Amino acid sequence: MGRLQDKVALISGGARGMGAAHARAIVHEGGRVVLGDVLEAEGKALADELGDSARFVPLDVTREEDWGAAVRAATDAFGKLNVLVNNAGICTVGSLFDYTLEDWNHIIGVNLTGQFLGIRAAVSALLESAPSSIINISSTQGVEGIAELHGYTASKFGVRGLTKSAALELASRNVRANTICPGTIATPMNEGLDVSGFNPMNRKADPAEVSSLVVYLASDESSFISGTEILVDGGELAGHGPLIAK
Ligand code: NAD
Repeated sequence: MGRLQDKVALISGGARGMGAAHARAIVHEGGRVVLGDVLEAEGKALADELGDSARFVPLDVTREEDWGAAVRAATDAFGKLNVLVNNAGICTVGSLFDYTLEDWNHIIGVNLTGQFLGIRAAVSALLESAPSSIINISSTQGVEGIAELHGYTASKFGVRGLTKSAALELASRNVRANTICPGTIATPMNEGLDVSGFNPMNRKADPAEVSSLVVYLASDESSFISGTEILVDGGELAGHGPLIAK
C-alpha cells in the first residue's frame, strides 16, 4: 500500500516545477491530486499523464472564487480533501528605488494572500476529512533576506507566520500545518540563474528532493509535526565557510 493511499491533495501551482513534482510523488504513493494553476495547457497535460488519480482546475490563487471551485473539484471528484499544498508562487526583483507599490501588492497577493485564501477555502473540507495536512511553501528567503528581493522575502517570511497561526488554531482538530523552505531548486523559476557557491553542495536540487518531504508531511507518518518549518536547502543556511581560506 502507498504511503498516501487514502489521501486527496489539492496543489496550487501544480502545472509545472515543484508543484508538478509533488503531484507525481503523491500519485506514486497512492494519493489522488487536484492540480490548480493559471497555466491551463500544462496543467491539463499533467493531469492527463497522471490519469484517473488526477484532475486539473483553473486556479488563480488571488481569486477567492477560484479557490472555492478548486476545493469543490476535489470533493466532487474524490469525495474529500486531506492535503492542501500551497505551492504557487512568483519571484520579482527590484531595488528600493524602483520596486513599485504595484510590484509589492502583486507578489504579496500571490505568495501570501494566495496561501491565506487557500487555507480559508479548504479548512472545512480538511476538518471534515481529518487527519489532514496543510503544507505551505516558503523559501530560504523566508528565513533570511536577499538584497533586492523585498516582496519575495517579506511574503515568504509571512508564510511561516501564517502557518504557525493556522497550526495553533487547528491542532486540536487533527489538522496540521507546516512550512517547507526550499533552497535553490531546478525549476523554471530560476532557470539560467547562476547559483554556484550559493550552498555548500554547490548545486540546485531536483524538485523530487523536495517532494519526498511533501509526501512525509502529507502522510500520517508526520502526525506529531505541526507549526514548524523544515529547510530543504543543501546546507545553505547552516553557516559560513572556513574562517581561514585554504
Ligand atoms: P515555477 O515558476 O516553476 O512554478 C510556480 C507555479 O505557480 C507555476 O506553475 C505558475 O503558473 C504558478 N502560479 C504563479 N502564479 C499563480 C497564480 N496567481 N495562481 C495560480 N498559480 C500560479 O516555480 P517553482 O520553483 O516550482 O516554485 C514553486 C514554489 O516554490 C513557489 O512558491 C516558489 O516561491 C517556491 N520556491 C522556489 C525555489 C526555487 O529555487 N525554484 C526556492 C524556494 C522556494
